[in-house]
Amino acid sequence: VHLHHQPVGARAVVVGAEPVSYSAVRTLRGAGVEIAAMVTDQPRHQSSWPAGFGARLHRRVPLLTGTTVTELFGRGRLTGVALRHTDGRTVTLGCDTVVFTGDWIPEHELVRLGGITLDRGTRGPAVDTVFRTGAAGVFAVGNLLHAVEPAGTAAREGRLVAGPVLRYLSDGRWPDGQLAVEVDAPLRWVAPNRIDPRGPRPPLGRFALRTARSDGRLSALVVSQDGRVLHRERLRRGALPNRPLYVSADWIDRADPGGGPVVITGQDG
Ligand SMILES: Cc1cc2nc3c(=O)[nH]c(=O)nc-3n(C[C@H](O)[C@H](O)[C@H](O)COP(=O)(O)OP(=O)(O)OC[C@H]3O[C@@H](n4cnc5c(N)ncnc54)[C@H](O)[C@@H]3O)c2cc1C
Repeated sequence: VHLHHQPVGARAVVVGAEPVSYSAVRTLRGAGVEIAAMVTDQPRHQSSWPAGFGARLHRRVPLLTGTTVTELFGRGRLTGVALRHTDGRTVTLGCDTVVFTGDWIPEHELVRLGGITLDRGTRGPAVDTVFRTGAAGVFAVGNLLHAVEPAGTAAREGRLVAGPVLRYLSDGRWPDGQLAVEVDAPLRWVAPNRIDPRGPRPPLGRFALRTARSDGRLSALVVSQDGRVLHRERLRRGALPNRPLYVSADWIDRADPGGGPVVITGQDG
């Protein structure tokens, strides 16, 4: 759209209502595409208040919450999508384009081919606080590590990994058997997800997480190991799916290097 000015279509349905979905809406509008609706299975959008407000009022994009796509119609070219609301109502929207956004997983094909350990939560390579994977000499940064973060985060990680890479090239040292950091439902993943309690803290001194729950009741995060609480932190704002959530790394030197995995759980307020 932006570089080659290729045509997209005339009328689109955008599936998803998180920040990248709104970015897709802006791109489609820039290409002259009418937006029939944005559709999310969640009870509300998961972007910033101005993005949601702007799309609905200024761009007149209807937002259908609690709704999923059940069928795509068309032969050769899409002609419509069937939608179902959680209350059972169904509708078919005419459109020639559907854009699926959100619910990201990392593009991890190369990592899998390389036999590098994946983290169960992120489905990207498991990495420690200085971006070391489970394979000696292989570092990983950016959105390969977890669902989408802003481009600035990926760029910062690219800069931060330079030091550890240089160190490895000079001393050839690689950790063996680090502690896993895991999450319990409703949390979906945490990154980084390996630690050395005697090692450095992650970038910006925090771990990134995501929740699967959309009711906004999550009020605190608890970090524990073998039943021992290492850290408890109140959330300053409501946690929603697809939105970044962070927990401080102040606790990592309190973890027992010989203990079981560190587990992060959510508490309702
Ligand atoms: C639609 C959309 C809109 C976005 N809008 C914004 C925004 O407005 N602001 C913002 O800050 N962020 C935005 N983001 C997020 C931003 O794009 C990412 O944070 C950033 O691109 C991540 O950079 P990266 O280098 O980690 O990964 P990528 O930019 O994804 O680069 C990875 C590269 O590796 C290549 N690759 C993968 N596997 C292989 C392989 N096996 N062999 C060879 N090459 C391979 C891929 O083709 C790709 O070029 C958006 C993302 C999307 C999808």
